[in-house]
Amino acid sequence: MRTTESKLTRRSFLTGAVVAGLGAMGAGLTGCGAPRSFAQEAEKNTIDGGAYDIVVIGAGGAGMAATVGASDQGAKVLLLEKMPVAGGNTCFAEGGMNACCTKYQAEAGIQDSVDLFAADTYAGGHEKGNMELIRHMCENSNAAIEWLGSMGITLSKLGTSGGASVKRIHRPETGEAVGKYIVKGMTEQCRQRGVSAVCNTKVEELLMEDGKVAGVRATNPNGLPIVYHCKAVIVSTGGFGANHKMLAQYRPELIDAVTTNQPGTQGDGIIFSQAIGADLVDIGEIQVHPTVEQTTATLLSENIRGDGAVLVNIDGERFMNELLTRDVVSAGEWSQPEKRAWAIFDKSVADNNTSIEEKFVARDLCKVANSLDELGQKMGVPVDAFVQSITSYNDNIAADAADPFGRSKSLNPIVTAPFYAVSVAPGIHHCMGGLRVNVDAEVLDADGKPIPGLFAAGEVTGGIHGGNRLGGNAVCDINVNGRQAQETACKYVFA
Ligand code: ADP
Repeated sequence: MRTTESKLTRRSFLTGAVVAGLGAMGAGLTGCGAPRSFAQEAEKNTIDGGAYDIVVIGAGGAGMAATVGASDQGAKVLLLEKMPVAGGNTCFAEGGMNACCTKYQAEAGIQDSVDLFAADTYAGGHEKGNMELIRHMCENSNAAIEWLGSMGITLSKLGTSGGASVKRIHRPETGEAVGKYIVKGMTEQCRQRGVSAVCNTKVEELLMEDGKVAGVRATNPNGLPIVYHCKAVIVSTGGFGANHKMLAQYRPELIDAVTTNQPGTQGDGIIFSQAIGADLVDIGEIQVHPTVEQTTATLLSENIRGDGAVLVNIDGERFMNELLTRDVVSAGEWSQPEKRAWAIFDKSVADNNTSIEEKFVARDLCKVANSLDELGQKMGVPVDAFVQSITSYNDNIAADAADPFGRSKSLNPIVTAPFYAVSVAPGIHHCMGGLRVNVDAEVLDADGKPIPGLFAAGEVTGGIHGGNRLGGNAVCDINVNGRQAQETACKYVFA
């Protein structure tokens, strides 16, 4: 292990400090303006942050699931987050959590299976995903729904999402966005367990001893180097969708696209794990999401299409089946004039999704009107063509006639005022590739061997989603594999 100077200030870490979720967390101070003499001193004297069984890096969905699970298994666990707030990109997850064979599906009479869920995931990912990892996620999805439910995080409302053969996406009953709902719930779970957690602390390096991971070197809230000793590390740092250097390296053509990712999504976990020999998989597979409002990079959830929205181009005309997978719908938009579209929906969809009012109406990011005619005028599209597009869509549904673009799901007529239009185009959304892991969430090296003491979960890993991630599978992945990572890490620590 990299030596920690003998003169170390042994700082007893904030045992019992709680995650404060969407607000400041743990120690909370930001690293502004440490006195120069003190900073210079720190170059010589790295702070010793204490010893833990497990250090979890990144307080998004995967990290929180791992932390809560590890704490329940009796591990002394520390959760580190580099941003001032917890939640990561998980906070922005709008859709829901895919899961099969749940009691909610059974109550609704929906026939689903691990085979069907796995087949949809594999096909949606262009048959590039790792079937072993996919099946592991699908097989454990119901248990994750039950686990969340046992903590009062109830995902009971079923919806439709792109690429799913049956209604499989599970959402909060209240219509809240799933990410904030889960982060809020998991924050409370961390609080109840008295988990040690700290924000504004960026992990820079994994430390090794005798070929095993034995700690992390981080920068603390005062900008000073700090070392935490541990027996195992769980990397849950998310993707690199806000790191333009990495995007340029792996997908140069996406360099100008807006990103829905929070600024902390810099691929740190990939970089510091690679530095100790971790292998990568599918690293160039980066998902663009088709419904991103471009001036603010605000995501219009897939639920909106799943609940009935259609897309029209700037000529006011529909151009495709809106419920195809994200990559296909994105390509469809890019092929239209001005490479963008309008998402059109009515009151019934807005009532079902609280994010419309909060994120779009309140921020003046959508057009709202009492008639289709008025909406067309506000959008600035040819009004007659627009009204004709929506009317013929509605008439087709009423006549039970086939949709000219092959849409067969969520055929809900757009008839109830007020009517809404949001201008959308594709934006960078999710990194499908990342650290190579096995079904036990062990991080593998280039020879396919687990790196002792190193585990990973969530968007930082690759392999499940292949060439395209289905909506609802990220939330499934973070919960299933966050739990898996802590389970394997606990076995390793307590062996
Ligand atoms: P996932 O969906 O896989 O849980 P998220 O994006 O929701 O991923 O969460 C990842 C979290 O990890 C974010 O809150 C991010 O700020 C944090 N993070 C990223 N890099 C570091 C780092 N070097 N040290 C500590 N936290 C990090």
